[in-house]
Amino acid sequence: MTGLFKQGEVIEVAVPFRRTSKTRKRKRRTHFKLSVPGMVRCPQCGEWKLAHRVCKECGYYKGEEVVEK
Ligand SMILES: [Zn+2]
Repeated sequence: MTGLFKQGEVIEVAVPFRRTSKTRKRKRRTHFKLSVPGMVRCPQCGEWKLAHRVCKECGYYKGEEVVEK
C-alpha cells in the first residue's frame, strides 16, 4: 500500500517508479485480470451468446421469440 497518514486518514501519493520493486509491482498486478463476459450456449439454437441477453442468432430469450429476424 502506498499511503501517508495525515491527521488520521490515509492519502494516496504518487511514488517514483524506482521506489516500487519488481516484485511489489508484479504482486499488485496479480489483481489486474481480464474479465471474460459471461458466455452461455443458446438453448434454442446452440450459438454462444451473452448470458441474460437475447440471442442475436435466433432472437430468443427465455424460450420465447422476442426479436423478429
Ligand atoms: Zn439462439
